[in-house]
Amino acid sequence: MNDSCSETVRLMKLAIDQANLAMDALEVPVGCVIVHDGKVISSGRNRTTETRNATRHAEMEAVDVLLEQWQKNGLSMSEVAEKFSNCTLYVTCEPCIMCASALSILGIKEVFYGCSNDKFGGCGSILSLHQNSTDSPNNEVPLGKGFKCTGGIMASEAVLLLRTFYEQGNPNAPKPHRPVAVASDKNELELLVADMVEAVFQCPAQEECLRLTN
Ligand SMILES: [Zn+2]
Repeated sequence: MNDSCSETVRLMKLAIDQANLAMDALEVPVGCVIVHDGKVISSGRNRTTETRNATRHAEMEAVDVLLEQWQKNGLSMSEVAEKFSNCTLYVTCEPCIMCASALSILGIKEVFYGCSNDKFGGCGSILSLHQNSTDSPNNEVPLGKGFKCTGGIMASEAVLLLRTFYEQGNPNAPKPHRPVAVASDKNELELLVADMVEAVFQCPAQEECLRLTN
């Protein structure tokens, strides 16, 4: 294993630590860290149950820590963009379409993820939002710059956490397949969020879990 490989694994282990914290808090175990100049500058874990907010995925938690801090430090929008363009995210599960969109718009440099997200993955599984260009066809929804993305880092560890969580039974899961009301005038981003409301109650790597279990 070369140096950059072992460094990737070292940082993914820190993301797994965050996922374990989520597990301890009875949240879907997904965790992440954000790295700048080789240093972890933020971390996050899934907090959807605690916050009763389906959008509080690990990535959003970690990003918001930085946004708040940089805003407090008086950084301009372009300085914030510059910062993100030098940041790398390590997350245990492929970012969903909502998070991948957000990361692309923020202009994050690179993402490493563990297991794939067969149902809602935004980095190749369902959509490939990391490949988007800055050009928005209708000038309505910014598509972002896209980012370099590599999956499969410690994937089996990430899946094992999810599988353990779902085998124990998710005590917070409501009845599945509940209808999600979607108004016709919602914009695209809101539709993505509406999808996530449903997504959060399901294992992000459910298919993979089932494959491994059976
Ligand atoms: Zn997400």
